[in-house]
Amino acid sequence: MIDHKKVRVRFAPSPTGPLHMGGVRTALYNYLFAKKHQGDFILRIEDTDQQRFVAGAEEYIIASLKWCGILPNEGVGFAEGPFSPYRQSERKDLYKTYVETLIRNGHAYYAFDTASSLDQLRKEREQQGSSFAYGPQNRHQLFNSLNMTAAEVLQRLNEGTPYVVRIKVPENDLIVVHDLIRGEVEMHTSQMDDKVLFKSDGMPTYHLANVVDDHLMEITHVIRGEEWLPSAPLHVLLYKSFGWESTMPKFAHLPLLLKPDGNGKLSKRDGDRLGFPVFPLNWTDPLTGEQSKGYKEQGYIPEAFVNMLAHLGWHAADDQEIYSMEALIEAFSLERVSKSGAKFDPDKTKWYNEVYLRSSTDQHLAMLFLPIVQEQLTKSIPSRHLCTSAGHLIDAESLLAYCNKAVALVKDKAQFINEFWDLCNYLFVAPITIDTTILAKKWKPPYETFFIKFADALSTLTSMEATQAEKLHTAIANDLALKPGEVMQLLRIMVSGQGSGVNLFEMIALLGGKESSTRIEQNLKKWLQTLSTDAAASRQ
Ligand code: GLU
Repeated sequence: MIDHKKVRVRFAPSPTGPLHMGGVRTALYNYLFAKKHQGDFILRIEDTDQQRFVAGAEEYIIASLKWCGILPNEGVGFAEGPFSPYRQSERKDLYKTYVETLIRNGHAYYAFDTASSLDQLRKEREQQGSSFAYGPQNRHQLFNSLNMTAAEVLQRLNEGTPYVVRIKVPENDLIVVHDLIRGEVEMHTSQMDDKVLFKSDGMPTYHLANVVDDHLMEITHVIRGEEWLPSAPLHVLLYKSFGWESTMPKFAHLPLLLKPDGNGKLSKRDGDRLGFPVFPLNWTDPLTGEQSKGYKEQGYIPEAFVNMLAHLGWHAADDQEIYSMEALIEAFSLERVSKSGAKFDPDKTKWYNEVYLRSSTDQHLAMLFLPIVQEQLTKSIPSRHLCTSAGHLIDAESLLAYCNKAVALVKDKAQFINEFWDLCNYLFVAPITIDTTILAKKWKPPYETFFIKFADALSTLTSMEATQAEKLHTAIANDLALKPGEVMQLLRIMVSGQGSGVNLFEMIALLGGKESSTRIEQNLKKWLQTLSTDAAASRQ
């Protein structure tokens, strides 16, 4: 399949909105294929349709690829390469020459029909129960250069009459697309119409710009979504018309991403309905202000997201499901991409995340958790910040080291990084309330002395190991003839406010002696006050 030429593939999105998961998968397969064959992966922005341009979409595409680790060798937002520029609007002048070549060689022609005259024809045909297509059957009756003298054409062009350039589809030909996933896909030219290639505003249409750029950028394989398969015969025809058949790229049209029930194409609405994102990052529509959720902000690990995407349409030779990017590169092949649509499974996506979360290093998770902590800390009341450690928590580096220890305690309890904060915010911020229901149920008067003594002992310790805290706890309990276990949950409430959570003595060790001690003292006071208020109330 691969000949001697260096593999060059491209991801060529149009900046018409946020990048859908399907688009990220197309980029990923291109990337994997390029890396597998020591080739180049290019990002080209196809922005010739100015009417569909959406502000911020290009930046979104670039940021999404970066988050996923799908990094182009050349392209917009990445390294400038020898085929620069990579944004089609900046290549505008170049397409005109190519379209003129086609016209000169009789493969394309000027059409001056107005939109309203074509609409009228369409309506008439519909009324007659048929349809209208601008093509071999009727182009000779329409208002175009095929039916005019050269002088007439020139006159119209000089007068500035609006025009489009259309491809002249051959009358009786069979176009064959050799698709690496689907085999031979045929289309007879009688089923094709004379698509517009160029408009008088100087802009090429997608079809022309796409083919010219793939040729100029020496693209060897066009790997893209199935929705482009119907356009492929036209593209093949364009390669033939330009005389570029010998260097025509090979095609591979990827299967659709389907709804979880397999019933049709996966859409944003499915995500909204079933509660999963369809975009890699959060997106706010610049026109409507509508907000869409992204995998990143939902707490997904990019490697898990990429691993999941890789399996949507491609399957490995074995049953292995967990693949690093390097392993994917090694294992990937277009032969193992299926023709039929790939059902998206949101639960499987969560499963991937959990697997990655469990196997990620604490350092890595801490890096991802740090911005969440920073955001939360700025939101919370400053006086509630960790008191003892407040000094060393101010700078990001110390906070990162602290997060490192915190994630080690919490990661087994979560599926997502953004569950961390809810699970362990008491490691960063002293609790405002304490669980009095459990306290009321389990409280006995001698416990007061236990907590006073334990808080006292802790206050003198600047740093300690969890085992040290535990020993201290046992010793003080024994001295007071208490079983260490009976005050354990209550101690947890005094420190964290709640009856369950991360390992108790690890928590105390991480908070440090002074902070733990202050919390015990304050919460004990609060609790004793509650007790006496309750007692007074019951006496009345
Ligand atoms: N600009 C097209 C898109 O938005 C590219 C299709 C192709 O890869 O040829 O998907």
